[in-house]
Amino acid sequence: GMSVLFLGVAIVTGQFLTRRAMKPILRSYELQNDFLADASHELRTPISILNSGLELIGMEDGDKLSAFSHELLRDLQKEAKSAAKMVGDLLLLARTDSGVQEISMETFDFSVMAGQVIRSIQGFAESQQVRLNLHGQDSIMLHADQERIKQLLYILLDNAVKYTPEQGEITLTVKTTMVDYKPKLCIMVKDTGIGIESADLSQIFHRFYRADKNRSRQSGGTGLGLAIAKWIIDAHRGTIHVESVPGVGSTFTVILPIK
Ligand code: ADP
Repeated sequence: GMSVLFLGVAIVTGQFLTRRAMKPILRSYELQNDFLADASHELRTPISILNSGLELIGMEDGDKLSAFSHELLRDLQKEAKSAAKMVGDLLLLARTDSGVQEISMETFDFSVMAGQVIRSIQGFAESQQVRLNLHGQDSIMLHADQERIKQLLYILLDNAVKYTPEQGEITLTVKTTMVDYKPKLCIMVKDTGIGIESADLSQIFHRFYRADKNRSRQSGGTGLGLAIAKWIIDAHRGTIHVESVPGVGSTFTVILPIK
């Protein structure tokens, strides 16, 4: 009897202490998150001024510049673009952490979106000498956050191009499928790229994790893309699954509820 009572008191006290001890930790986490959100928000304006300024110089004085300045300008434009992207990604993650990032659902034709995204990323693929194919149904109506789903496609396709050497091939397949008698959208991004070691597979969805830091940095990677992809998929109650063989290629499969 006594020992049960003692155990009970210990458990209750333990919980009480834990909750009390957690409070300042949670508070400092909140503050840190607010700080990240504020900092990324504040950085957006100067970075966008840099971006448009550099673009203007390129348009107006492009031919007056020396070869050196021309190359420097191009590098600066690239850096400013990736800074803008990084700040946008950080802001989004800070907002998802504090729960203020909402998703706004609407019905749209996912196949049309897939076609648009493929077309807009085609130039990048060609510059890397990688072939980009789209397979699948002509029309799939999806009820989801249009902006976020487009972002998800960009993240997966952008990675596929980044991590696939010249002469490689990327195939985006979109189709509907039944899972547990419910209609689902299946998105598959298959590449013939460098692949991912099995030790890295479970980590690639973590923030800032990059299996190949050099290659990732060279191609403007921050290690935030797949963390954002995972959030988008979770927010839609979907799943993502990766199969990869180092040196052969990777396939990312996303399943999303259609309605
Ligand atoms: P990054 O900005 O570095 O690409 P991501 O979060 O998008 O960050 O991806 C995390 C890591 O997962 C990458 O650094 C890379 O090592 C690995 N990765 C992602 N997609 C692929 C792919 N298609 N092929 C090989 N490795 C990949």
